Amino acid sequence: MSPRYDAILIGAGHNGLVAAAVLARKGRKVLVLEARGHLGGMLGDADFRVAPLPYALRPEIAKALQLDQTMLYAAKPLDVLSFGADGPPVRVSGGLATGVDIATAEAYAALYARLGRQARALGAMLLETPPSLGKANLSEMAGLARMALKMRLLGKAEMRDLLRIVLSNAWDLLNDEIGDGPLAGLLAMDATLGGAMGPRSPGTVLTLLYRMASHSPHGHGLRVMPEGGPDALVRALSDCVTAAGGEIRTGAPVDRILVDGDRAAGVRLASGEEIAAPVVLSNASPKTTLLTLLGVEHLDGEFVRRCRNMASRGMVARLDFDIAQAPALRGGGALKSGQRLVLAPTMQAIETAFNAAKYGNLPDRPALEASYDGAAKRLSVSAQFAPYDLKGGWTDEAKAKLSASALTVLDEALPGVASTVTGSRVMSPADIEAGYGASGGHWHHGELRVDQLLMLRPFDGAAQYRMPVAGLYLCGAGAHPGGDISGAAGFNAATAALRDGRN
Ligand SMILES: Cc1cc2nc3c(=O)[nH]c(=O)nc-3n(C[C@H](O)[C@H](O)[C@H](O)COP(=O)(O)OP(=O)(O)OC[C@H]3O[C@@H](n4cnc5c(N)ncnc54)[C@H](O)[C@@H]3O)c2cc1C
Repeated sequence: MSPRYDAILIGAGHNGLVAAAVLARKGRKVLVLEARGHLGGMLGDADFRVAPLPYALRPEIAKALQLDQTMLYAAKPLDVLSFGADGPPVRVSGGLATGVDIATAEAYAALYARLGRQARALGAMLLETPPSLGKANLSEMAGLARMALKMRLLGKAEMRDLLRIVLSNAWDLLNDEIGDGPLAGLLAMDATLGGAMGPRSPGTVLTLLYRMASHSPHGHGLRVMPEGGPDALVRALSDCVTAAGGEIRTGAPVDRILVDGDRAAGVRLASGEEIAAPVVLSNASPKTTLLTLLGVEHLDGEFVRRCRNMASRGMVARLDFDIAQAPALRGGGALKSGQRLVLAPTMQAIETAFNAAKYGNLPDRPALEASYDGAAKRLSVSAQFAPYDLKGGWTDEAKAKLSASALTVLDEALPGVASTVTGSRVMSPADIEAGYGASGGHWHHGELRVDQLLMLRPFDGAAQYRMPVAGLYLCGAGAHPGGDISGAAGFNAATAALRDGRN
């Protein structure tokens, strides 16, 4: 078969679309093949969104792709409401917290500003290919050097502080600085959301800094929602691909990555159709890409062992509740469309929920992130911790139990909401894995932790996006720098492929 395409993208998640847009805008003939009927991966469609709050697309990427900045970043800072055990919620916008005593608000503002500076220093690596262990080239080392310089510019005291806290746990840091409560619960939620870790787990300061770096790229510490929500973002990215001459096919699951000699040669679809291309970028998770689509016969034994051992046990379930009317907030007022609710009254509450899940059980009181879509009259909830390998499996009874406990927690913050529910859906990590090819249904396609970060992401020997079979790249959340709707992994992978000049 003679190649009609320079590159094939497996998957039209937002990272696959970003990678395709980067390549197409450089004149490469690209084809995007998406298994599902809709684009955007976990951004989903109006029926169900796994990721309802896309507030982290990197502005550098939006700029490089010339996306409509006004539409994507109309000045709408995300309004966050964090509920304590009682009383009205604390309202948080960046480092500004209202609804707590002045001393706590000041301590929070100071901590947020300090962590923000440190996160920005570490964030220098987000749009870089991490260096390879032992054989880094000059441009890879330049990325590390830029990060080191930014750390140095923090000043001696703050750099030392960063080195002291970076591998420690959020629990100790937040208890020392602001005490346990709804503000610590909010930051601990950011540190742990999507991972198999509680606030006491080592490395949770690093994951908090990762979130702050990737969620606060706009220089003012605020998370900003695209005007028009997830659909506008997906449309902007897919328009960018097609405007540059790229093709996109939905309902086209890839069954196999084809290999000729020792390099990628194209793909075979589940339908049996074969499509040739010298370069293949996969937006599916690393395990799915390497163990299922490529096949272990193309990999050496040690590489396969590391891939199999990669931690990717999802811990978050998604629940949707259809509700008859906009919910009222405890303490007065109504919940508005697009506000982010965090129901993690203390770090202790999150740790207690994690304790149940680490032994394979559902917590009695899950920690929740929620948002309300007024047009669809729907409350979207991410509930942690919900272990992928739940004891007894994800039966209808297990889903009903999680749904009931989430609703109990919601009803305390949004009084009366439980009585207005007209329908509900639960998507377990196992459902997410089955639906999106994300191993373990994991938020980041693989745990984001110290031994799976930077030059060790997704695992030792598989970083830098390039796989052992020449011409095959990982371009999804499993690759550096990880997940959330940032586009960084797709952007970096396409840049690596262009740099290799293989297409
Ligand atoms: C419960 C939950 C809630 C979340 N909420 C948020 C949130 O509110 N905000 C946020 O920023 N992040 C959130 N995330 C994280 C975010 O969804 C992911 O990190 C992000 O979607 C990863 O993007 P991606 O493009 O790399 O992969 P994905 O979005 O997983 O897309 C991968 C695509 O590849 C396709 N694919 C896989 N295999 C094949 C194949 N063989 N052939 C063809 N196509 C294939 C899939 O169908 C999919 O479309 C959430 C995650 C979870 C699990």
